[in-house]
Amino acid sequence: MFLIYCPYCEEERAEEEFHASGEAHIVRPTDPESLSDEAWGDYVFFRKNPRGNHHELWQHTTGCRKFFYMTRDTATYEIKEIYKVGEQPKVATAPAVPNKYDQFSSEQAVKK
Ligand SMILES: [Zn+2]
Repeated sequence: MFLIYCPYCEEERAEEEFHASGEAHIVRPTDPESLSDEAWGDYVFFRKNPRGNHHELWQHTTGCRKFFYMTRDTATYEIKEIYKVGEQPKVATAPAVPNKYDQFSSEQAVKK
C-alpha cells in the first residue's frame, strides 16, 4: 500500500483516499477577456509534463477534503515534500522544455 501524508490530518493515509488534481501553482490570468483564444486555450489545456520533480495539487478526498501541494518525482514516484496551500515549495522542479504555456505564464506575471 502506498501512503501519503496529509498536512491537515497530520498522518499518513492510504493513497486511495487522495485524488491528484494536476499541476500546482497555475497562475490564473488577471484579465481573461483580453486574451486571445490561443492564449486562453494554452492556459486551460497545456501543462508541463517534466520527467523528475513536479509540483502537484492533491486533495484528501475521502478524509478532510482539503487541498494541498506535493512535489513528486514523476520518474520514481518518490514524494519529495508535501506542503499546505499558501506555502511555497522548497524543492525545485525538473527543468522542462520551454513551450507556449511557459511564455504565457511569464507574460501574465509581468502584467501584475
Ligand atoms: Zn486530510
